Amino acid sequence: MKPIKEIFALLKEPKKVAIVMHQKPDADALGSSLALAQFLQLLGHSVNVISPTNWADFLKWLPGCNEVINYEGQQEKANKILDETEWLFCLDFNTLHRTKKMAEKLAEITCVKILIDHHQQPDIQAFNFGISNISKSSTCEMVYDFICESGFSNLINDSIATCIYAGVVADTGSFRFSSTSSDVHTLVANLKQKGLEHMQVHNNLFDNFLENRLRFIGHVLLNRMEIFYEFNTVLLTVPKSDLIKFKIKTGDSEGLVNYPQSIQGIKLVAIVIDRDEERKWSFRSKGDFDCNSFARKYFEGGGHFNAAGGRSSESIESTVTTFQNAIKENKDLLQ
Ligand code: 5GP
Ligand code: MN
Repeated sequence: MKPIKEIFALLKEPKKVAIVMHQKPDADALGSSLALAQFLQLLGHSVNVISPTNWADFLKWLPGCNEVINYEGQQEKANKILDETEWLFCLDFNTLHRTKKMAEKLAEITCVKILIDHHQQPDIQAFNFGISNISKSSTCEMVYDFICESGFSNLINDSIATCIYAGVVADTGSFRFSSTSSDVHTLVANLKQKGLEHMQVHNNLFDNFLENRLRFIGHVLLNRMEIFYEFNTVLLTVPKSDLIKFKIKTGDSEGLVNYPQSIQGIKLVAIVIDRDEERKWSFRSKGDFDCNSFARKYFEGGGHFNAAGGRSSESIESTVTTFQNAIKENKDLLQ
């Protein structure tokens, strides 16, 4: 993978561009893709944004979101775009398998593949150009850097600023995680000067849900939370029946994993959700417990040091047992 700056000189030649992100994209994946798409369109490129799956309703207000192609529902159209694309930007993931059913197609096409990502252990063989920087708060911050370093910061408008800000807010836990550098605060100051309305973004991201989601959160915290004090660990187990009862949709469970972190002394919080296709895990840690390695070792996953995800094809009972054994094995690191 060659440094991304080697494509700067080529940005002025209009191309067919596709931008893709990880499955079930979050605010950072969608925000960075939409910001980059709008920037490249302003430079005269023809751009399509493709998501491997659907995304949460609370992200649908993001400027440009209506144009995003869902690979699950529009595979033929998306494959045609991918066949014709000259540049493929891969944002907020670093191994093709994180795009699920789209991975095979992305591996097969021979266009120029460009990575912009901040997760651990990138598969650099899969990309021609790119930047992978695990110290960056978000892929949105990296897209902002890409626009500025290529010499086009003048093209950042209020719409691009909104998309970038949404991902930065989400991936920094509203500016609380250690990745919130002085560069991040400078970025926000610069976006404000471009017309960013930050309160509107916070309202759209955090204060725009239906009653069922809040009642679901209350139910899970009251009835589905186990605390393993000897391992400073909390586990939330969400059975399928809860998803049905509370009419839970994509995105409704996002953020749930953060609540138990408010309990004194807790180092690791895990949540497992019994989805149709798999048991989906999320992990959050404080301090020196490495969620990325833990998710990789036990749950076919990965991510960041303090925030990672994984999956299991086992039953919910069986994968919970795997988790309980895993925290016992990691007792020394959790105490
Ligand atoms: P979340 O728990 O919010 O789904 O994900 C936390 C972090 O881990 C995010 O940066 C996300 O992209 C990453 N992540 C989530 N699931 C997986 C997975 O199955 N594999 C890998 N490699 N990363 C994941
Ligand atoms: Mn991200």
